[in-house]
Amino acid sequence: MSIIGKGSNENWICRDPIPHNRPTLGKSEEKFAINILRSGWLAQGSAVETFEREFCEFLEIPEDCAVAVSSGTAALYLSLLVNGAKNRTVAYPAYTCSALRNAVGLVGGNHALVDSQSQSPNMNIEQVPKHASIAIIPHMYGIPQEIPYNLQQLLTIEDCAQSLGARVNEKYTGLQGDLGVFSFFATKLMTSGGQGGMIIAKDPAIIQEIKDYRLFDKRSDEKLRFNFQMTDLQAAIGIAQIRQFPSFIKRREEIYQQYKEAGLPLLDGPPNITPVRFRAIIQTTKQNELITALRLNNITSVIPLQEWELLGPKNMYTNAYHWTQNLVSLPIYPTLKDVEVKLILEITKNIL
Ligand SMILES: *Cc1c(COP(=O)(O)O)cnc(C)c1O
Repeated sequence: MSIIGKGSNENWICRDPIPHNRPTLGKSEEKFAINILRSGWLAQGSAVETFEREFCEFLEIPEDCAVAVSSGTAALYLSLLVNGAKNRTVAYPAYTCSALRNAVGLVGGNHALVDSQSQSPNMNIEQVPKHASIAIIPHMYGIPQEIPYNLQQLLTIEDCAQSLGARVNEKYTGLQGDLGVFSFFATKLMTSGGQGGMIIAKDPAIIQEIKDYRLFDKRSDEKLRFNFQMTDLQAAIGIAQIRQFPSFIKRREEIYQQYKEAGLPLLDGPPNITPVRFRAIIQTTKQNELITALRLNNITSVIPLQEWELLGPKNMYTNAYHWTQNLVSLPIYPTLKDVEVKLILEITKNIL
């Protein structure tokens, strides 16, 4: 318990701090993890296979269309590698996670940064240069974007690290492009025990190629491979989470609607998309004032992507820069309580 401030009657109000994010972990994660520990088989094995299969079931795709790896960054790297990105131009937004830059750099691709849209922090796909041969399209904050038809001459990789379960025209993200990549890092919509990633592809041959690459040890040929494996211990937690995933996104939606009904100026998408509420992002010019007011009440809110995190210079990516100056991310996760939502709302409305 911690003290949050003095009431008018001189009584101290006591309450737990409210973090910006928190993984949703319970009895089933414990049980699944204990089963693996007791089995004595910890490394990649049958639990990873089950996780891959159940992930496909969730997305309603054939069961041989997914491969689990060690992280979302590894998923991006492998997607680029098997598609021959070396020395080719890969377009991706200036306003996103540095994992994209790292994956493109490690694979030896040429970088082509693209600005955000003026109405959304998502990438302005219209500005993908003609000479690019691959585009990585992240769906930021769980708000997916439609990939237009005229982009289909490019190889498109949808980065769904923040958008698992979101849909565009009723189709899950990751299924518009050629490949979809997912992250199960601790702060994402679901986790496989802190780290983990998944790749899906329309072409099962791509998945087979990545599985071959992942199976790096005891191979008779001399092809170079690398260890990007997920462990069975991680996969077990991933299985527990994907089974509960519909209830996770339902609770997130409930919280989002509470914020929205109270009139907060939240980021959202057009009617043909169904977002998942990975983040509750409000548009405000009072970033620091709001973050400070919440912090005084032991509530953590953040600037979701800061100026220094932009992947290109701010005078070239002016929309991206604008979004670094005008967004604040409020707590939203399945274990956030209604009383906590009310408190966050009260303080936020006071400032705006
Ligand atoms: C988190 C994230 C990644 C990287 O995933 P890791 O599992 O942390 O390596 C990539 N892209 C986006 C958009 C992300 O949010």
